[in-house]
Amino acid sequence: MKVITVLGSTGSIGTQALEIAKKHNIIVKALAANSNAKLLAEQALSFSAEYVCIYDESKKAELEEYLHGSGTEIITGAEGLKRIASLDGVDIMLNSVVGMVGLIPTLTAIEKGTDIALANKETLVAGGKLVINAAKENGVKIFPVDSEHSAIFQALQGNDMNRIKSIILTASGGPFFGKTKRELENVTVKEALAHPNWSMGNKITIDSATLMNKGLEFIEAMWLFDLKPEQIQIVIHRESVVHSAVEFMDNSVIAQLGVPDMKIPIQYALLYPHRIDSPAGRLSLTDYAKLSFMQPDYGTFDCLTACIKAIKLGGTVPAAVNGANEEAVAAFLSGKIKFLRIGELVSEALESAQKKEITCVEDILQADKAARDCVRNRISC
Ligand code: MG
Repeated sequence: MKVITVLGSTGSIGTQALEIAKKHNIIVKALAANSNAKLLAEQALSFSAEYVCIYDESKKAELEEYLHGSGTEIITGAEGLKRIASLDGVDIMLNSVVGMVGLIPTLTAIEKGTDIALANKETLVAGGKLVINAAKENGVKIFPVDSEHSAIFQALQGNDMNRIKSIILTASGGPFFGKTKRELENVTVKEALAHPNWSMGNKITIDSATLMNKGLEFIEAMWLFDLKPEQIQIVIHRESVVHSAVEFMDNSVIAQLGVPDMKIPIQYALLYPHRIDSPAGRLSLTDYAKLSFMQPDYGTFDCLTACIKAIKLGGTVPAAVNGANEEAVAAFLSGKIKFLRIGELVSEALESAQKKEITCVEDILQADKAARDCVRNRISC
């Protein structure tokens, strides 16, 4: 019987993970959410969780009311996340929080020797070197939850990582595939949130519309599978059926396919290496008839280009680009900037980033903060 903890339990990945946990009798020892006290309390009661963490401290009283007499201990804030990450007797911590806030809990769990199911890609984008080195030192496994990285991980089973020639990272292209910059000038938040294939949280959906998400995934793949930038090909695949593929040294290509449903990669990460009944639907290739594959438009989608440049520069530059994007997306969602401004702000952050080698978490946090400050200043001008 596996014991897990879930950070980001009320989000899209978190709720689907709990559905899988219920189905397969996985014990959920602790849960953490940003601010949805009501759903968090329901989850805690449903799984008899020992701890719940609400990141937004102003929601603590509300949570206490819901959980009165339940015996669940309530903790808050970044310290609370850290405490959950350092709990004893946990097999896997699912980290599905949004953004850089996931970095410290990931590092904490790794130091504790707890395996990680990683949906929080910003952790690897900003702190890849530290995270991967710490995982190696502590003998901790990182199971990718991102569908593309899960596909690559699945294709690698029974093969050696050092036999990879390249990987084919597929991308749906998001809601604005085929559009020109001119056509994107006045797109609304609602249009940007209308993803054609995947149902996800707001931040990642905007990242999918700007292709920032694919840029982050490019960096994530480099760290997870020890690849050079030249070994990653991004291919637009509108149908989201081929979730990614590995090209091996003998030119054989192995892909993983399935309906676009995150429950497949989430379950694989939580129950690895077992393949058992899934709540996800089955794939019928004849329903699709045709699958398409195209080159991405690097000229229109600045964020994708900026991410690839950032990881080639290395050091703290990816952390800066990621931090700038988090700020820019928040500003777009709250109506402060236009859609194309996100890409401009991310590109400007890349231009002005001071590259520093990463030796400790502080280096990452500083680069992140400097980039965010820079974006906020530019927006308020
Ligand atoms: Mg993905």
